[in-house]
Amino acid sequence: MPGKRPAPEPPAPLSPLVDAHTHLDACGAGDAESVAAMVDRAAAVGVGRVVTIADDLDAARFAVDAAHWDPRVYAAVALHPTRANALDDAARAELEKLAADPRVVAVGETGLDYYWPGKLDGCADIDDQVEGFRWHIDLAKRLGKPLMIHNREADHDVLAVLLDEGAPETVIFHCFSSDANMALACVAEGYLLSFSGTVSFKNAHELREAATLVPDEQILVETDAPFLTPHPFRGAPNEPYCLPYTVRALAELREQDPAALAEITTANAERVYRLPRH
Ligand SMILES: [Zn+2]
Ligand SMILES: [Zn+2]
Repeated sequence: MPGKRPAPEPPAPLSPLVDAHTHLDACGAGDAESVAAMVDRAAAVGVGRVVTIADDLDAARFAVDAAHWDPRVYAAVALHPTRANALDDAARAELEKLAADPRVVAVGETGLDYYWPGKLDGCADIDDQVEGFRWHIDLAKRLGKPLMIHNREADHDVLAVLLDEGAPETVIFHCFSSDANMALACVAEGYLLSFSGTVSFKNAHELREAATLVPDEQILVETDAPFLTPHPFRGAPNEPYCLPYTVRALAELREQDPAALAEITTANAERVYRLPRH
């Protein structure tokens, strides 16, 4: 969560980059002007394009609007697994319509979150989450768009539901947080793994090992802002302009040149989200 710490200083530019998963509304953007200002800050350090993700219907309407306001912004829409109990007929009908918008490049974030049930008031229970996940998988397949997965402490069941339902052609695990075994299972299925600031946390040993095992063609980078601000700014508010910190940390782990990793992840984002070539 945005904390009391001051905003991180801008990193040295690293270009080209696409923030594969962020939440501009939760970062504080609410209209065309504030969206443009936020993307200007990102573009100044090389993050020229962002995909803003919805986790409820209000956020979905905002994400589609933002993607129409600013050509550097693309959208993904879904109900977050913790909100899957709100997926009634009206919500399904509206999501169908929003997801079909040409500026929407993925269906997400959907998946399973086994951390919050029982801790968060009103959180969808696991049965509702599985039903919602199945519905979003089917939507992604019908639209021919990538599926953006949120997985928290549900490795086994996320893979099981994907296999049972039949995965869409493109599946992206956002903020990949699991271990080497899960990374290898995802890689074998052809899924993409998107890494956030958590990969820069020195104590995230299993995750950092997993990040070294992903082939170049299956890796993406994201901020998941305003959450998960990279080291050494943990606890400060995150924004898309902070992405170069994460890419440099990931490049160091993978023993790659940061500029090369920027090119690789951007080419992957362009391919899976069908963005124009930079
Ligand atoms: Zn998530
Ligand atoms: Zn997110």
